[in-house]
Amino acid sequence: MDQYAVFGQPIGHSKSPMIHALFAEQTEQSLEYGKQEVSAEAFDAAVEQFFSTGGKGLNCTVPLKELAWERADKRSERAELSKAVNTLMLLGDGSLYGDNTDGAGLVRDLVVNNDITLKGRKILLLGAGGASRGILGPLLDQSPDSILVANRTVEKAERLATDFQQKGKVGSCGFDELAGKRFDLILNATAASLTGDLPPLPDNLLEPNGSCYDLAYGAEKTAFVRWGEAQGAVKSLDGIGMLAEQAAEAFELWRGVKPETGAAIEQLELLRG
Ligand code: NDP
Repeated sequence: MDQYAVFGQPIGHSKSPMIHALFAEQTEQSLEYGKQEVSAEAFDAAVEQFFSTGGKGLNCTVPLKELAWERADKRSERAELSKAVNTLMLLGDGSLYGDNTDGAGLVRDLVVNNDITLKGRKILLLGAGGASRGILGPLLDQSPDSILVANRTVEKAERLATDFQQKGKVGSCGFDELAGKRFDLILNATAASLTGDLPPLPDNLLEPNGSCYDLAYGAEKTAFVRWGEAQGAVKSLDGIGMLAEQAAEAFELWRGVKPETGAAIEQLELLRG
């Protein structure tokens, strides 16, 4: 049977095997999808081992996305720009193709699942790490009015804005420069939620019909989702839908068939309790 897996560290919490098992059942594809704890140091050896023993495709998560980008022999345009790869696929000639499906997954969850318009909208993107780098290109492809990247370390936001300038109107700033500005959509791509923290945000950043979206997710509402609700966001969502959608994009790349994500999202919501 064709083998797939997710590598990362830590990996115990990963929902990817459950999501891909659902996709395989739904699309009647015969495959196995496992998870493996792999450190950055062990990454190259683990990749060689996996693909030389029947592996067809891999997902890579924290802290391996940049290493997967380096390892890929060929890359999609969106992976090239993001400098991070979350999906590797074995090609017929034995080489590895790298893609980044995070941005497409987020855009689909926003636009298709949640009816949030991006075209012509003012977007605030909090954070300038790997996730922001992965989603910025696909977000700009939706022709927003502008995207402002705000980050604790301002130089990283500046670098990101410079790298993506050719794709649209991208600015950068620190959190202390946000007061008085207004946005239609605020995306939290900082890792703050993982420790129950919130970036230092002033009140009144949201336009009256604005929405909030936290890429992070957990059993409870994240601090940012709660902040969005308190600010009167029309929708204040977490990243469960993005998780399912980025997986569906990877599945389509590997198997040539796009699974429907509704059942996976429902399962993930149930697991949350
Ligand atoms: P990185 O470690 O690459 O980047 C972390 C970012 O968060 C940096 O911009 C960092 O700022 C900022 N940050 C960290 N702690 C704080 C804090 N306390 N206050 C303000 N800013 C902070 O992480 P990733 O970009 O890979 O991941 C970011 C988030 O996105 C995570 O929560 C992750 O779980 C989520 N994610 C969700 C996905 C999904 O499918 N739903 C997919 C991918 C990511 P600085 O530069 O100053 O250090």
